[in-house]
Amino acid sequence: MEREVQAVPERRELLYEGKAKQIFATSDPKLYWVRYKDDATAFDGKKRATIAGKGELNNRISAIFFDRLGQAGIPHHFVRRLSPTEQLVRKVTIVPLEVVVRNRAAGSMARRLGLEEGMVLTRPIVELYYKDDALGDPLVNDDHALVLGWVTEAELAEMKRLALAVNDVLQAVLIERDVLLVDFKLEFGRTDSGQLLLADEISPDTCRFWDRNTLEKLDKDRFRRDLGGVTEAYQEMLRRLGGTDDGQ
Ligand code: 5GP
Repeated sequence: MEREVQAVPERRELLYEGKAKQIFATSDPKLYWVRYKDDATAFDGKKRATIAGKGELNNRISAIFFDRLGQAGIPHHFVRRLSPTEQLVRKVTIVPLEVVVRNRAAGSMARRLGLEEGMVLTRPIVELYYKDDALGDPLVNDDHALVLGWVTEAELAEMKRLALAVNDVLQAVLIERDVLLVDFKLEFGRTDSGQLLLADEISPDTCRFWDRNTLEKLDKDRFRRDLGGVTEAYQEMLRRLGGTDDGQ
């Protein structure tokens, strides 16, 4: 049977430029065009650099993860990859919460609570952060999110359920590749009809990946902590996920 060929919409005006991505409108009102950049920032933008090849690596890695999550029944915004650094996504309005899932103590949780980095948690922890650069994305709880009107009860329950389901799927994929999923950050959005979709990206910029045997870091902590070998670590993650450079 012939596969239906979906027409690619035209790229239109730049709607938003973030630290790592540009979002463009398209000729299809239901779709956005995303371009992944090589720029990296950390510590609320105080540390900046350009990391050669990062945009392409994150575009490819994110596409692989979204495809796997879609196969597992998780609703997401990813439609298809368009070029090495670009992808088409469904248009959503982003919920102003970062949903972080942690399997081990690391990063801000280890710092805040004085825990040894790498400590295994007896079950995954879900945290919420208010997305506001000027405030430094503060940690908030369910009541803040509900009372301040960022989400409804039903949306919050669904976001947490999906975040834990994403954790299960990603952990299963990664452990086969000898990668530990320490923690990660998700963002969700609403379509015009109010459907909640997993959005943004899932990449070494937004997750902590450690080699299962050596505990070597294969993620953005190499940049945050000046460990060197940033591009090589992202390349290694793409390689382990079976990604290829198909020249597209
Ligand atoms: P932490 O709170 O320990 O800094 O981050 C927890 C996890 O969420 C890490 O995997 C980190 O990469 C991700 N994360 C949290 N906030 C952000 C953010 O603002 N930007 C990015 N790229 N990742 C974040």
